Amino acid sequence: MKTIIEPFKIKMVERIRMTSREERVPIIREAHFNPFLIRSEDVLLDFLTDSGTSSMSDRQWSALISGDEAYAGSRSYFDFERKVREITGFEHVLPTHQGRASERILFSVAAKAGDIIPNNTHFDTTRANIEHAGASALDLMPAEGLDPDLDAPFKGNMDLGKLEELLEREGHRIPLGMITVTNNASGGQPVSMENIRAVSSLLRSRNIPFFIDACRFAENAYFIQQREAGYQDRSLLSIAQEMFSYADGCTMSAKKDAFANIGGFLAMNNASWAEKAGTLLVLTEGFPTYGGLAGRDLAAIAQGLEEILDQDYMAYRIRSTGYLGEHLRTIGVPIFWPPGGHAIYINARKFLPHIPVDQYPGQALVVEMYLEAGIRAVEVGSVMFGRTDPGTGKLIPARNDLVRMAIPRRVYTQSHIDYVIEAMENLASRKESIRGIRFVKESPVLRHFTSWFEPV
Ligand SMILES: *Cc1c(COP(=O)(O)O)cnc(C)c1O
Repeated sequence: MKTIIEPFKIKMVERIRMTSREERVPIIREAHFNPFLIRSEDVLLDFLTDSGTSSMSDRQWSALISGDEAYAGSRSYFDFERKVREITGFEHVLPTHQGRASERILFSVAAKAGDIIPNNTHFDTTRANIEHAGASALDLMPAEGLDPDLDAPFKGNMDLGKLEELLEREGHRIPLGMITVTNNASGGQPVSMENIRAVSSLLRSRNIPFFIDACRFAENAYFIQQREAGYQDRSLLSIAQEMFSYADGCTMSAKKDAFANIGGFLAMNNASWAEKAGTLLVLTEGFPTYGGLAGRDLAAIAQGLEEILDQDYMAYRIRSTGYLGEHLRTIGVPIFWPPGGHAIYINARKFLPHIPVDQYPGQALVVEMYLEAGIRAVEVGSVMFGRTDPGTGKLIPARNDLVRMAIPRRVYTQSHIDYVIEAMENLASRKESIRGIRFVKESPVLRHFTSWFEPV
């Protein structure tokens, strides 16, 4: 069969409140042209994030009911620990309330002022936690990974030459190295096994521990199976196990590749770091057998980790993301190519060339997508990453002006995606009429979350 179907059926539904364009005009105005300020009930299709927005399965909901809420020694913890150990092979498993809590604990233990932590591309919370510890977060991307149009299988890879040079020059300042799979902050692009292996051997040859930011480890395993020679006949579990075998630990947000609405963990082999991490865990997250979570959450995560490595699920997941990306490209909407695992990034600067960069083409596009069809997406460009030059008062733009559509897991069907494609086709046909955006009230930090805008 050529048609790939959703490998699940729907047992419970959540109503979408339909709105008309006339209703959406005052809604976006009241939200000050910032989609983060729209209420979710006013959104038809929500692509703001794939984090914590997954549909849980009937088995996860059953696991919630049978979760063990004992303060210490909960059965749900041991199920969770067994599952994490099976996949990662790491000895010490610390549950946390989400990925950034794992990061805060890891860097409090392992990093200090003056240190450098290299990564392919740090996610923003990872970077923030490293900087909070007084260390610097360094991204080591090769040129090919930054080119939005180049077609290559593993554009999430780390630049090995840059890593080697860094180790040569500053090796003594590096307490640990990281790699993020898939590379969320760089198009959701995958990392090859070859690259993971090479990064690991460079770090290990200098006795520097290697951690994986594993939020989308299963999506990455699928790309390896499909694209890298020698992995076609391997199961997703065995590919994931091999990925982790090259590392000494990982940080994880269970809100991504564990189908949970909340949760995460920190896992590692180093007993002395694990002991210090356990002490910090008790201070702010909770007792070691529940961390920042309820027993039922641990049970749902253990079950989610089982389901995420299902071949049929992952084939559908990656194909449906690709389907959206390929159709957008066909109707003339340029995207960061090739489609990533969890999201499609529209190249707004290229799509709306008549809007100058200092009138935020990405923000203009997310506003129009909402007005056109009630679709919520997020600007990943000069609103999020640009800065105002204190001398001239002019914008220092981001490298790209993209619009990210992150796809929640098991939530939307193909007809929802077809609706998006039709909406984008309508937008493309009248794109010259789309106007730029300017700030009305600029928040000093993380300005995409709370700033106010208006059309130029
Ligand atoms: C989401 C994410 C995190 C942080 O996880 P939270 O659960 O949101 O705290 C870290 N790294 C990557 C790559 C992520 O996508």
